[in-house]
Amino acid sequence: MQITLPDVSLVLLIGVSGSGKSTFARQHFAPTEIVSSDHCRALICDDENNQTVNQDAFELLHLIATKRLAHRKLTVIDATNVQSQARQFLLGVAAAAQIPAVAIVLNVESTIAFQQNEQRSHRIVDQEVILQQQQDLQAALANLSQEGFHSIYVLTTPTEIAATSILREIIH
Ligand code: GDP
Ligand code: MG
Repeated sequence: MQITLPDVSLVLLIGVSGSGKSTFARQHFAPTEIVSSDHCRALICDDENNQTVNQDAFELLHLIATKRLAHRKLTVIDATNVQSQARQFLLGVAAAAQIPAVAIVLNVESTIAFQQNEQRSHRIVDQEVILQQQQDLQAALANLSQEGFHSIYVLTTPTEIAATSILREIIH
């Protein structure tokens, strides 16, 4: 699949832990374009797994996204974004900057996410957590078209994800 991104846009990667978000982000975007919840947790407390600092980590994530959009820089949010509240907040950040938001959903089967999660070097997430995220994601997929995204792309298999290319369309 070819994904066309307005440049500038705010890109939300949406997918459970182990779906391949960070790998996808690294393949297609510069490190400075990626704002990752794991990285923000690490910046706050040196531990990207520490869920007790989420409040501060997401404040930081939102602040960085807001500042980058104010400078009209394409920004990619590497977080699960399966909860509607998380998406709503980011859609608000994009709307305030009058910049389109694009959803890229990595909707892989749970068994694939489990397998890939176990391959991760830095953090293994409980399967129960992934199943809860998977439920949230399926609910999200039903609503996504009404949330205000400029465009929505849903990728469902590792093959399709690997074969995806991204085209940036300059907005004047
Ligand atoms: P995230 O939790 O959604 O950010 O997922 P990651 O990008 O960290 O991917 C989880 C693990 O799966 C990592 O070890 C990746 O190297 C691996 N992975 C990601 N995408 C693919 C893929 O398309 N194929 C295979 N075989 N492994 C992948
Ligand atoms: Mg990740």
